[in-house]
Amino acid sequence: MSATRLDGKACAGALEETLKQRILDSKLKPHLAVIIVGDDPASHVYVRNKIKSCERLGIKSTHLELSKESSQEELVNAIKSMNDDDDINGILIQSPLPSHLDEESLTDLIDPNKDVDGFHPVNLGRIVQGRLDGMIPCTPAGVMEMLRWGNVEMSGKKAVVIGRSFNVGMPQALLLASKGADATVTIVHSRTKNAKEECLDADIIIAAVGRPEMVKSDWIKPGAIVIDVGINRVEDSNHERGWRLAGDVHPEVADIASLLSPVPGGVGPMTVAMLMSNTVLATEIQHKKNGEFNG
Ligand code: NAP
Repeated sequence: MSATRLDGKACAGALEETLKQRILDSKLKPHLAVIIVGDDPASHVYVRNKIKSCERLGIKSTHLELSKESSQEELVNAIKSMNDDDDINGILIQSPLPSHLDEESLTDLIDPNKDVDGFHPVNLGRIVQGRLDGMIPCTPAGVMEMLRWGNVEMSGKKAVVIGRSFNVGMPQALLLASKGADATVTIVHSRTKNAKEECLDADIIIAAVGRPEMVKSDWIKPGAIVIDVGINRVEDSNHERGWRLAGDVHPEVADIASLLSPVPGGVGPMTVAMLMSNTVLATEIQHKKNGEFNG
């Protein structure tokens, strides 16, 4: 078997088109504010991609660049002022922050209605309650969107999520198990004793580990659906730049699975598209609260 490629770029493109229309119809002007601290090159690339995506959709974006020596208090003040600014609809803190900053308490400070990453405890808690009409973390929300776009039947299927981070694995497991998706979910983590056997039993595998090509072809039930969330930089002398991007899933899995998302071009573009979707939703929620939008 050779797996069909679940093309995240195409799925993200389709989602962008619906968002563009939604923005036009609503006559709202969403505004995303991104806070970036320090000079980590990868973070700057991610922020640039988010800004480009905003431009394509007609979303206003601003970014606040702070030096890597910035204090917690500076960040607290920046977030408070963005919370109070009615012109700003979405606030995102680009991760990772320098280690002297407490990212968790900064996330807690963001107005939950402007929390477009979906990492505020209010937004994460709503997922446990089955209230899926708010801001959901972009990566697991993007995976769900891809599965639906690929017409993947989830109801009653056995799903394994590898990873239990608060931003990917844990909300992913909840979303797969939620009413409407209705999968039966197992979470595999670093203390799991039989990860390979758990995966061999799965109809759907979502790998969000951060270990290059850990999921091998002999972990896969023939015909299973495999979503590779991993983005890992691995040294490779065959590449001009000396490295390449690798997922958490070995490429040979394509010989066994029926559907496989590529890296790059899979979950990555969907994460950015869902950020745009959360920004539009945040704008609608805020204007509804003010009685200015009835969509
Ligand atoms: P993370 O916070 O480091 O979490 C990794 C998870 O994997 C943890 O729950 C850990 O278990 C588990 N794990 C580690 N080693 C394992 C092993 N040998 N067997 C089973 N489980 C193991 O990472 P993350 O933020 O969730 O990200 C995961 C991957 O997705 C990374 O490659 C990241 O770059 C990528 N990512 C991609 C996107 C995208 O847009 N495509 C977005 C976010 C993340 P413990 O909890 O027991 O430590």
